[in-house]
Amino acid sequence: MKYISKYFLFFLTLIILNDCFSKQNIIKRIRTSDKIDKVTTRIVLDLSQKTAYSIFTLDNKPRLVIDIEASENKGTYDLKSKLIEKVRINNNGKGIIRLVFDLKGKAFIEKNFYLKKNEKNFYRLVVDLQLQKKVITKKKALQPKKPFTITLDPGHGGLDPGAVKYSYREKDITLLAAKELKILLDKKGYQVHLTRNKDEFISLRKRRNIAKKNNSDLFISIHVDSVKKKSTRGTSIYTLSDKASDKVTAMLAERENKVDLIAGIDSNKVDNEVFSILLDLQRRDTKNASASFAEIYVSKIRDNGYRALRRPHRHAGFAVLKSPDIPSVLVELGFLSNPKDAKYLSNKKSRARVLKALSEAIIDYVRTRSKI
Ligand SMILES: [Zn+2]
Repeated sequence: MKYISKYFLFFLTLIILNDCFSKQNIIKRIRTSDKIDKVTTRIVLDLSQKTAYSIFTLDNKPRLVIDIEASENKGTYDLKSKLIEKVRINNNGKGIIRLVFDLKGKAFIEKNFYLKKNEKNFYRLVVDLQLQKKVITKKKALQPKKPFTITLDPGHGGLDPGAVKYSYREKDITLLAAKELKILLDKKGYQVHLTRNKDEFISLRKRRNIAKKNNSDLFISIHVDSVKKKSTRGTSIYTLSDKASDKVTAMLAERENKVDLIAGIDSNKVDNEVFSILLDLQRRDTKNASASFAEIYVSKIRDNGYRALRRPHRHAGFAVLKSPDIPSVLVELGFLSNPKDAKYLSNKKSRARVLKALSEAIIDYVRTRSKI
């Protein structure tokens, strides 16, 4: 678990089964109660089968999310806990049921485990939750949690200049833009890292790894495009395409070092099928989050009157975007092949406009992250 800091939003837990995986799992009942120790809330899912699940908490609008491999929910539930406000259940029809418990306060998962089936009981998935202790500072304010962490990735560098036009080099503009954007974001209290701070070559894989090492909540690769047609100008934003995602998922599942890419999942112990379901779940969430960021960016660009491509949000299989668990986007600030864009982007003052839109998109995105 060394890849995960204690603040990490995800608590991915995995139960592996040899015999029951193929059988249909039905949620029979959902029970909650506050334990006598007064600090623990226990959630029990009665299940017809023991199947794979993932579980994590979200602090923003406190919630506990359980994704469980199950075909059907027949669960009546009784909420006898003071911590739980309500339960929302969503069956995606593809064998995964998501249970979202809205909580009255920030909580952490104290433990989670299965209890065996016996004559009286079904299989029981037990989750013990505890309220996070409020740390009071001198100002009587809540101790801030881990700040939202962003890794900015200035494209290219070193031997690889990226696009070169009109004496401008993409690698220089991307580095300047990332540094300037960092200043804007630092002011907002986010934790901002750069994959490179100077003119050096960094492989795409290493860029992803830096984002992972920083425990990033968002990864933004910054580029400046170049095409033959000089008149093409404006910004665009890329997220990973479906097709690429699937291929990557398949490739990842085969790779021995997949554990490096998926925090908290020990692939050695995991049945391949279960593994790919979990990877898929995680990737789907990441993909949705990336797409939502892209849409926010596009609207901010429009609000700011900055020029964008006709379809500013596009999909492609950029290797740098393939982190399974970090929402990732690639922003093309404009076109170095267009004289106006080139001039615009190489000037700090005018470049600030697109960076302002980008920083506003980040602020909005952080706000909307609480929706599930
Ligand atoms: Zn580039």
